[in-house]
Amino acid sequence: MLQVIEVFASLQGESSYAGLPCVFIRLSGCNLRCNYCDTDYAFEGGEWLSVEQILSQVKKYGIPLVEVTGGEPLQQKESIQLMQALVKSGYQVLLETNGSLSIADVPAEVIRIIDYKLRGSGEGGSFAEANYQLLRDGDEIKFVISDRADYLEAKRWVESRGREGLRLLFSPVSKRLKPELLAEWILEDALAVRFQIQLHKVLGIA
Ligand code: SF4
Repeated sequence: MLQVIEVFASLQGESSYAGLPCVFIRLSGCNLRCNYCDTDYAFEGGEWLSVEQILSQVKKYGIPLVEVTGGEPLQQKESIQLMQALVKSGYQVLLETNGSLSIADVPAEVIRIIDYKLRGSGEGGSFAEANYQLLRDGDEIKFVISDRADYLEAKRWVESRGREGLRLLFSPVSKRLKPELLAEWILEDALAVRFQIQLHKVLGIA
């Protein structure tokens, strides 16, 4: 059984898959406390559902893309069985994780979107280093940037650890850093990353 906050459909808003219709499964619980968190309602509570019950809710939407998110979904061990079941049912599966817990058991077919925590989040240094070796082509590292110091930290990571096959995403923390300023910095440095904004927030949808 998994503790589930919500299952809903929206446009994917924060990855290379942004703009695509997607079903989100938001699991309860998170081991971090980022100072800009906009999903603190997912820290606890939720409904206990079996993998089969979750699959039947997902199926109703008829959308082939599914994201398992939180909170921090890997905090619940059964999230692995959930992802296996989704893959087996033919869905393209994304996992949004904060990178602090091991991704070793995540099924090979799942795209891992790692929300790498920079210092401005208040949870800098939480990335589990062992995860770096486990990253595969197509996985995404998302840097959510609060200020210039965060930008420089993310840039250092990209320059020293970025590699072909990894998708690197930079986005501003909403209402903290002006998107146009971040865009300017990326262009000045000709940094090979993808700029993005939280599409669902611009649209004012979930
Ligand atoms: S990891 Fe995500 S859910 Fe957890 S506190 Fe940070 S932003 Fe919120």
